Amino acid sequence: MEKKLFVISVDSLFFDDVQWLTDCPNLYGIYQRGSVVQKMMSTYPAMTYVAHSTMMTGCHEEMHGIYHNEKAEVVEHPAWHWYRKELNSDTVFDAAKKGGYTISVINWPVTGADPSIDYLIPEIWSDEPEGDSRPRFLTVCSQGMDKLYDKYRHMLRWKYQPELDDFGVACLKDIIREYEPDIIMLHLSYLDHARHSYGGFAPEAKEALMECDRKIGELMDILQAKGLLEQYNICVMGDHGHLPVRQVFNPNILLAEQGFITLDSKGQVVDYKCYIHSAGLSAHVMLKNPKDHIIKKQVETLLKSWVEKKEYGCEQIFDKTQMEKLHLKGPFDYVIEGRAGTSFGNKCRGPVFCPTDNSDYKLSVSAHGHLPEKGPQPIFFGAGPDIRENIVVERGRLIDEAPTYASILGVEMPWAQGRAMKEILKQDYNNEEE
Ligand SMILES: [Zn+2]
Repeated sequence: MEKKLFVISVDSLFFDDVQWLTDCPNLYGIYQRGSVVQKMMSTYPAMTYVAHSTMMTGCHEEMHGIYHNEKAEVVEHPAWHWYRKELNSDTVFDAAKKGGYTISVINWPVTGADPSIDYLIPEIWSDEPEGDSRPRFLTVCSQGMDKLYDKYRHMLRWKYQPELDDFGVACLKDIIREYEPDIIMLHLSYLDHARHSYGGFAPEAKEALMECDRKIGELMDILQAKGLLEQYNICVMGDHGHLPVRQVFNPNILLAEQGFITLDSKGQVVDYKCYIHSAGLSAHVMLKNPKDHIIKKQVETLLKSWVEKKEYGCEQIFDKTQMEKLHLKGPFDYVIEGRAGTSFGNKCRGPVFCPTDNSDYKLSVSAHGHLPEKGPQPIFFGAGPDIRENIVVERGRLIDEAPTYASILGVEMPWAQGRAMKEILKQDYNNEEE
């Protein structure tokens, strides 16, 4: 029998939010009806694009290759990982497509131009707040979605929230009405946005969660009106935690002072021996020539001295070998993990330490990108015909989500490093060999 699946990623939803969920009737209904995995292990860095790549591939970043929202580029605002082709492993969409399912994916990161998705509105925006995102959108959406873009583009305001969620949900409503896809995967970011701007547990964050719940309710109403709602397995999850930030440390300014970065008169990088790319609460240290052992030794000494000066807010340094143990692999040589209260900036000029700044998700009053075991943990819950009732599991892992969907759908993901969470499923639908 053909299965139905509706996956809703509520960006930065935690187990700690269960109390708030009691004021979110749609989400709380799912939470109460089905199975809950209270604390899901996120990725390192605990960051949206890394986590969502893991959530759709069933793999760690060493396999799927997405190590940050942004590419490791030596500029203050690098390009983002928009495209499916940037993933080094296959996804649950590939597996489901092979299984004959129709799929709609809305605002899900790193899905741009994914040929396995029938009705695709990927998460994407123009480089500049005032820029037109239509030309870029047309290169990444699936065929026919340009009509929806034009119908609802008036709702969009760059990457701002709740407008991006409003736009995605408006498109999804039309897609469900017209095409009734078997699999729906939706990413809502308003909660994360509110936590960044106002603090992890600010009243504005609760209000944002309630707004996400209203949207989910409207989508469920459409499925209900079509008589389809009962057939869907609905899974809801967060992707990463959040921690409060008190100061922003700009290590590139120290690197520039010591001659590791060369700036022009406008403060732009013209050359570098070592450059540090912020991942929010951690940072990626890039050596231009990692084979230059003299520079490497100097950088190592410098990084260690930052850890020793507690006020710098650097907790520990990971080298390539230690990164491997954390399943992290990327075009950088070291990772700095911040201490509580410090996030990292990319600035190469100005004061080394700055107050928080809501201009960017990495510098805001609450941020992430930290070791995933720290702070609030993402939650996972689901209900539906193939999900057991009243099951509570304490711990799970993001890498197990896609294999769980594959198991529900009866399709195979042999490349996945994770395993289906069988304890929450009524039956294991994988054809296991005797
Ligand atoms: Zn975030």
